[in-house]
Amino acid sequence: RIEIQGLSRSFSGRAVVSDVSLQVAAGQVMCLLGPSGCGKSTTLRMIAGVETPDQGRILIDGQPVFDAGVNLPPEARGVGLMFQDFALFPHLTVAGNVAFGLVGDKATKLRRVEELLEKVGLSGFGSKHPHELSGGEQQRVALIRALAPKPRVMLMDEPFSGLDNRLRDGIRDATLEVLKAEGAAVLLVTHEPEEAMRMADEIALMRGGQIVQRGAPYNIYNAPVDRAAAAFFSDIN
Ligand code: ATP
Ligand code: MG
Repeated sequence: RIEIQGLSRSFSGRAVVSDVSLQVAAGQVMCLLGPSGCGKSTTLRMIAGVETPDQGRILIDGQPVFDAGVNLPPEARGVGLMFQDFALFPHLTVAGNVAFGLVGDKATKLRRVEELLEKVGLSGFGSKHPHELSGGEQQRVALIRALAPKPRVMLMDEPFSGLDNRLRDGIRDATLEVLKAEGAAVLLVTHEPEEAMRMADEIALMRGGQIVQRGAPYNIYNAPVDRAAAAFFSDIN
């Protein structure tokens, strides 16, 4: 479960995120949707712990990770991360990368790795090194590396951007399948309404650093809060 209250952040006196509050329950996918520059990544980065809020509180599974006198480092927050600037460990094989955060005996880890590689169409890639893979293949490895340890909370920033259309739907479905099976609370950032409509249980529509509307995809699509929101959704066909 993710809970944020009154989160704000300015850069050089300009408010980039203003008083953002939201909750994501276990087993739910919330999409933070909005145009470029509206503050989506900054919000996600604050929850991850790689950016410090000016104000607000962040709770993960009920525990404060950012609050008065509390500021846990990213690795202590118990969240899975898949960011735009993903990077694989170049010296490890594909299987080594995916297994990186896993615990348990070797056979169990290997089985998990194989199962995940298959889900994203990369069976047989386990012994390759990242430099032998295309950009899109590396991205898929980074995605399943994030999914592998079964995090209770997953933060994803445009995890499917740049994947070609033929692949993208299958990868999205596989990702949802894994996350839903684990009952994770998922916050997924995207600037594509179509992606949010497809992935989200709930959409938080963001503009100018604020959440302007929140609700089920169908409701937001059918009853946008204002003209700008309607125009934003009108690209979908
Ligand atoms: P996109 O869809 O393009 O990824 P976004 O909604 O994720 O956009 P953010 O990355 O959160 O947008 O950035 C919001 C605004 O804050 C932008 O105007 C950006 O230039 C600014 N910004 C973000 N990080 C910093 C920083 N470290 N220093 C100064 N300005 C920043
Ligand atoms: Mg961004």
